[in-house]
Amino acid sequence: MMASNTARISNDDLAAELNAWLDAHWDDERRCEKGTDRLEVGSWLGRLLDAGYSVPTWSPQWFGREYDSRQARVIDDILKARKVFGRSQDRYNLGAVTVYRLGSEQLKSALLREMLTGAHSCLLYSEPNAGSDLAGVRTKAEWVAGPDGGEYIITGRKVWTSNAKGATYGMLLARTDWDVPKHSGITFFLFPMQQAGVDIRPINQITGESEFNEIFINEARVPARNIVGELNGGWKVLQTALAYERLIMGEGATERQGKVKSKVPPLVELAQRHGKLGDAVLRQKLAQAIAYRQLNALNMKRAKAEIIANGSSSIMSLGKLAMSRIQHGEARIAAEILGPASLFDGSDFKDSADMNFDSAKAYMNSIGGGSDQIQRNIISERILGLPREIEVDRNMPFREVKSG
Ligand SMILES: Cc1cc2nc3c(=O)[nH]c(=O)nc-3n(C[C@H](O)[C@H](O)[C@H](O)COP(=O)(O)OP(=O)(O)OC[C@H]3O[C@@H](n4cnc5c(N)ncnc54)[C@H](O)[C@@H]3O)c2cc1C
Repeated sequence: MMASNTARISNDDLAAELNAWLDAHWDDERRCEKGTDRLEVGSWLGRLLDAGYSVPTWSPQWFGREYDSRQARVIDDILKARKVFGRSQDRYNLGAVTVYRLGSEQLKSALLREMLTGAHSCLLYSEPNAGSDLAGVRTKAEWVAGPDGGEYIITGRKVWTSNAKGATYGMLLARTDWDVPKHSGITFFLFPMQQAGVDIRPINQITGESEFNEIFINEARVPARNIVGELNGGWKVLQTALAYERLIMGEGATERQGKVKSKVPPLVELAQRHGKLGDAVLRQKLAQAIAYRQLNALNMKRAKAEIIANGSSSIMSLGKLAMSRIQHGEARIAAEILGPASLFDGSDFKDSADMNFDSAKAYMNSIGGGSDQIQRNIISERILGLPREIEVDRNMPFREVKSG
């Protein structure tokens, strides 16, 4: 843990300090590729963490420097430019952020370091009959007595779980009380994935990939001390975890891997390459696309300030929805620029292949982390103050709720 609070350092001094530290500890030719030894990765992440560069906005007690977002950006820009892995975990490591924000001191002591040095977590929220309506989860958690608060026996089924293979922890939503209304009987656990009773089955996608999994959990165990937040208080924890997920998606973290960002927006470059920049109608569409991105960036700043102050923010939904619209819209403009050539695919037709990839990937943002329709519901109810959607089962004991 960092002992000193260096929050007053100027941006220039901070950049010089970090570059000097990297010169001493980092090889700019180094890459973290698939297959890089886990221990080696963990040891590097540990050094970065102890130097205070992994989670700079967190408190010194928990590996941070209490930096503001501008100072964090200075660090992020340098780490990104020098291709250092393990950067900005206070933004991108959902599991660790959730534990930091809402976990007990005991849980932070037990797990934070592990979670920040390579133990990755997956999200065990969705179930076959509980996706948009996560408050309807039916995975059950039954308490049994034992030392240190006892443990819970978990039985149920989860679906669409990304990155489950190799995950150390699952951020698990399970029902601990069936006699109260649906939102009030859920608990949020950090569930150890590597144990008997956890069966991870990949779902084969039409693309040939299998990013998702179905998880069958049969009497697996989680210590009571791994509860995040309060027993039966999982709904509140979930709201914060989802807000962070939406923040990441709202910032456009779903961009094509390896896409190089230049000062000229990629769509403009595409239009230039294909000799379409003279087209007045297209220019208007390009200007609108760029304006949407700028507007969304400003909105995300507003959301971030709110989440830092209040722990949660409904404005995240606006950002996530906007990014979904932006990605679908930009893919349409790209198709228009390419014309009939957009039907080609493969390595000989890079622009078309990228456009096809972006069109398909846009659906990830409009479904994962809560669909566009659900974001619209949240915006209408929590931001615009419109009447709540009718929910007949909202106040009845969950045991009496009918399920198909
Ligand atoms: C790329 C990706 C990654 C994902 N990763 C994970 C993961 O790691 N862990 C995890 O737990 N889940 C994950 N999911 C699942 C995702 O969270 C769910 O797919 C999503 O919440 C929708 O739930 P559902 O698929 O059950 O659809 P349903 O809830 O059945 O919804 C079907 C349709 O009805 C609409 N709808 C439902 N209720 C309402 C309503 N009240 N008002 C208006 N429209 C409504 C929805 O918008 C949708 O169009 C992932 C999904 C994707 C696409």
